[in-house]
Amino acid sequence: MPRKPKNRVGEIYGKLTVIRLSSRRTTAGNAYWWCLCSCGKEREVSSDSLSKNSRKKKSVTQCKKCAQESTLKGLYKKIDHQEKIRRATATKTRSLLEGKVPKDWLKLPLTDSHARELGKKHFFRGIKCLKGHLSPYRINGGCLECASQQQKPKHS
Ligand SMILES: [Zn+2]
Ligand SMILES: [Zn+2]
Repeated sequence: MPRKPKNRVGEIYGKLTVIRLSSRRTTAGNAYWWCLCSCGKEREVSSDSLSKNSRKKKSVTQCKKCAQESTLKGLYKKIDHQEKIRRATATKTRSLLEGKVPKDWLKLPLTDSHARELGKKHFFRGIKCLKGHLSPYRINGGCLECASQQQKPKHS
């Protein structure tokens, strides 16, 4: 005789509210519950995953669509954070190069995405390329000095 699961209707886990028992059971015989997400979508969640312990990896607190969206948001946040660090590093590196490189270079955008943001084609991070050139970079193109050296043989 399968155990009758404890009634969990009305319990709240993050964005989910348990609304009714599902006929589905896990291989261990635990119940699945239909939950209503605050966005209006329903999701079937096994009782093992309905846990107040958010450190538990399996715990489910939103519908699949919301979970997907928050993963994406997390990703953008991460990129933003890394980009902030990149720009801060470039600012610092460039401040040490004042007087050592053309002034125009220090007016260029700080990074690839900074250049894109400003609608510019070149940026200067104040770092050397793999061949050791200290030179501005072209977005998607790499070091300008390398690029000009590669072009030379064609013209000579
Ligand atoms: Zn949702
Ligand atoms: Zn180079």
